[in-house]
Amino acid sequence: MITTSIRDRWEADIQSYRDGAEVLVAFPQCETCVNYIKGDALHCRYYANDEKPKYVFSIKKECPAYENDNPIDLKVQNNRENKTYGGLFGFCVGDVLGVPVEFSTREEREEDPVREMRAYGTYHQPFGTWSDDTSLTLCLIDAINKGYSIHRVAENFVNFYKKGNFTPHGEAFDIGNATRYALAKICAGINPIDCGGKAETDNGNGSLMRILPIAFYGKKLNGQELVQLTEEVSSLTHGHKRSKLACIFYVEFAIQLMEGYKKEEALDRTISFVKSNCSETYFDEFPHFEKILNGEIVNAAKEQIKSTGYVIDTLEAVLWVLFHADGYRDTVLNAVNLGGDTDTIAAIAGGIAGIYYGFNDIPAEWIQSIVRKEELYQMFEEFCHRVQ
Ligand SMILES: [Mg+2]
Repeated sequence: MITTSIRDRWEADIQSYRDGAEVLVAFPQCETCVNYIKGDALHCRYYANDEKPKYVFSIKKECPAYENDNPIDLKVQNNRENKTYGGLFGFCVGDVLGVPVEFSTREEREEDPVREMRAYGTYHQPFGTWSDDTSLTLCLIDAINKGYSIHRVAENFVNFYKKGNFTPHGEAFDIGNATRYALAKICAGINPIDCGGKAETDNGNGSLMRILPIAFYGKKLNGQELVQLTEEVSSLTHGHKRSKLACIFYVEFAIQLMEGYKKEEALDRTISFVKSNCSETYFDEFPHFEKILNGEIVNAAKEQIKSTGYVIDTLEAVLWVLFHADGYRDTVLNAVNLGGDTDTIAAIAGGIAGIYYGFNDIPAEWIQSIVRKEELYQMFEEFCHRVQ
């Protein structure tokens, strides 16, 4: 059901909350406010204390203006920082935009496209909430900041899963099954690189969604070293060759964009890289990457793009949105509005769009809305120094 007035939307929201908030997406922002998403909800007559939904404990916290009241200074000093912060915040913002509408259908998104930050929805989380995609990416960033080892990454994963470290509100939600099984194995003391599923059915997008930091950390390695490092990091949760090759492709593509190549040229160079560095080991996987490796994906029709959690569908969707949008904002909103695995696809697309268009192209109010943005910024700052 698509509603129009803010009051109707709140009613839908309340009902959604009572029902466990599994389906409907709410719009607590005030559409009548002249400032729209940045507006001062405290002065909105619909947001008066006696009228607000009962579960809204703190009006300010539900309003993105709350975060913007306390903005942090995030100026970038040079092109390298513009690309690094662009990639990392771009990834996180994509995740945040996708969380409230995860699992919605494409038809729902076409009828009611996401155009701004939303809250609640699928997991009933407040504004600026990121999910496992960002959490697991932070686990890798933290491990690199402290001196990379696969054991350190594994340890961070366990602390995420068991203690809620690297989460926006101290609790992990939205963990994929493959990652959950792998984490159980890590906890049981199995060697981390043997923990990821190796069956053909284990090819969800769960390692692709957390591999981006390797593009920064591994950019100076030679081809084979980069391939090996990427394989190792993927193997922790996803050990099948298809997942590993998807990660290799994405990492190399991100590196090419970081180098400053136009997206068309970066894609060509990435295809050449994969063909010359992965032909031997991954030859039997190439048919699954056909549309990507022959460049057809760029000209595919929207109907051919399946935005599911299958790693090939996800990588195709990510590349497709990058080539069918101009600017960071368009790219991530197009990704979210494909429906399906919205948070992961928008995060992965947001990572490369952030590198390509730079930090300064990401809407500032979106970044300021991110939960725990100060801590993220600190981690990214340290990472930026470490990988230069
Ligand atoms: Mg997620």
